[in-house]
Amino acid sequence: MTTAPLDMPRPAAPHAMTQAEPGRLPSLVGLTRAGLGEALLAAGVPEREIRMRVGQLWHWIYFRGATSFEAMTNVGKGLRATLATRYSLARPEVVTEQVSVDGTRKWLMRMPSTGPHDRGAEIEAVYIPESDRGTLCVSSQVGCTLTCTFCHTGTQKLVRNLSAAEIVAQLIVARDRLGDWPGGVRPTDGLVPDAERAVSNIVFMGMGEPLYNFENVRDATEVLSDGEGLSLSRRRITLSTSGVVPMIERAGDEIGSMLAISLHAVRDELRNELVPLNKKYPIADLLDACRNYPGLSNARRITFEYVMLKGVNDSLAEARELVRLLKGIPAKINLIPFNPWPGTRYECSDWDQIEAFSEVVFRAGYASPVRTPRGRDILAACGQLKSETEKLRARARLMLESGIGAEGFFMGASDD
Ligand code: SF4
Repeated sequence: MTTAPLDMPRPAAPHAMTQAEPGRLPSLVGLTRAGLGEALLAAGVPEREIRMRVGQLWHWIYFRGATSFEAMTNVGKGLRATLATRYSLARPEVVTEQVSVDGTRKWLMRMPSTGPHDRGAEIEAVYIPESDRGTLCVSSQVGCTLTCTFCHTGTQKLVRNLSAAEIVAQLIVARDRLGDWPGGVRPTDGLVPDAERAVSNIVFMGMGEPLYNFENVRDATEVLSDGEGLSLSRRRITLSTSGVVPMIERAGDEIGSMLAISLHAVRDELRNELVPLNKKYPIADLLDACRNYPGLSNARRITFEYVMLKGVNDSLAEARELVRLLKGIPAKINLIPFNPWPGTRYECSDWDQIEAFSEVVFRAGYASPVRTPRGRDILAACGQLKSETEKLRARARLMLESGIGAEGFFMGASDD
């Protein structure tokens, strides 16, 4: 992974620019300011104009959501034509869009191929509308190296990190589909709130461990939070980690978003099983890193996520231990009813138990919202994401095991 500082010239694709598939021009969508500057330089724009031109492109791409250079009326015709011969403003392909009865939307996106051995990574992003906000859950990796046992994504092996541009492009696609640009038209199904902004918050809770793709997540956050473009304040961007302890302080310093921790257990023995990364970074070390998270205050609390697994981690003794462990950390506790997925060994805790657990946490002074399961009918809920390719493979495996031919299911699958 590249580690070029933000203000330095950065290497070319794939980190700076989504590579073009044969016959396709590279897209400028998702690039950082530095990346756009490089693209303009390569197109022959004089160095003295770069800053101004980057500002123009930035406005059109990230504020207006332009899909063609033609629309960029304050950019000279000649430059527009030059750019159109070298670059595109293409978005990742939307392979499927599923809309839940509760308005949750899940998009399976295919990223352009990055080379002859990559048929295009598939990732999922989920939009969750609520009365006071609209949250987009983005992926940071294709698959995941960690194997949290309650998580569907964890059963899909890591294919690769997403580039910063590919992370940003997930928001661009969401804004396109939701009519969330100035003058945009909302979908006609009435399931997108008529708020000024359909997407007001971003959570890195999709596929992957964001702190294992640090530089790209950092650069993407830079683009997402830029006040002259997509303009999502860092306080509305939450990075959720399973506990990569050595990266937590750096995340606070360099990314500066809100932090969420996938905790899910209060004893190392159990957490080792649920979140195997715990064997490397046990609970005490993780909580120390949280106490030292830069910028932590009552106004900037850390969210601790706790998935409710029946008979596994949901006793009231564990609720009390949770409260004891978090003492002194400005925290919110998010209780997440487990969302079952095919083949899982866990069940969701009974509702009475979730309420009793929540009561212990609440009495200790923590807001403990129980996250309403969203998008269950389209497998879009927490921990249920898994790309279609993988699902097809699982189905194919089942069919093979049951003696039914499955070749058809493998056709068109990417090289993951
Ligand atoms: S919970 Fe997050 S870190 Fe764990 S396997 Fe799932 S995607 Fe990976």
